[in-house]
Amino acid sequence: MTDLRLLSLDFDGTMVGPWLEGKAAVSEELVKCLAALRKRGALLAINTGRSLSLVDQGMELFPAIPDFALTTEREIFRWTKEGWEPFSDWNQQCDRDHEQLFTEAALLLAEIETYILNERQARAYREYGRLVGLIAQNDDEMDRIVEYLRLQCSRVANFSFQRNSIYLRFCHAVYHKGSVLKALQTRLGIQPQETFAAGDNFNDLPMLDPGIAQHLACPSNSVEEVKETVRRHGGFVADLAGGDGIAQALRRIYPQLA
Ligand SMILES: [Mg+2]
Repeated sequence: MTDLRLLSLDFDGTMVGPWLEGKAAVSEELVKCLAALRKRGALLAINTGRSLSLVDQGMELFPAIPDFALTTEREIFRWTKEGWEPFSDWNQQCDRDHEQLFTEAALLLAEIETYILNERQARAYREYGRLVGLIAQNDDEMDRIVEYLRLQCSRVANFSFQRNSIYLRFCHAVYHKGSVLKALQTRLGIQPQETFAAGDNFNDLPMLDPGIAQHLACPSNSVEEVKETVRRHGGFVADLAGGDGIAQALRRIYPQLA
């Protein structure tokens, strides 16, 4: 078997969680598996919808610093002795593409905001005064918002969104967890057969693709769409939740691990 050289893990619900009384469970099994794999040379990338500052907050939960943080489903940062360093060519292009997208989508975003205000209870999420995402009251409400957005998206070229449970972020269609992982692989010279990817929610679907990662897994708490995708691609649907499920998946690949 080809050795794993790159692990792309979603954070919330995959690397940590589930939550009990406001506290995220951290799997000792996963901590051990990751340490053993990294000792063998595998690189760890957190591939998340979190921003970099929320990754830092999240890492207070988990006793290991990743080699890479792929943040807000689109940017790449490498951990160095000086802290996080952006993969500048990719992040700069990503910024330029989003600047252009949000300019072109200004009218559409204003209409989306009116729809949310008048017909939904969801909250708008803003950055620098610009509508960048939505937070629904519950999954049912987000299901309806997604139905509405699917009809609207085609009005502006490359206008898209990423959904993670009740959270949604608007984005350029080219950027998602799959393309950002591919960009990292290209820069590191790592192949899909050397890559493991795991996630639990809708925004993970683009990286749960054998063209990007040939070792796929999801924890038992994943949404049905994720389980179905992982199964269809011959990946592993764990019967344990969160990090315990991911440790289970890694031990299937490496039975002798740690
Ligand atoms: Mg998740």
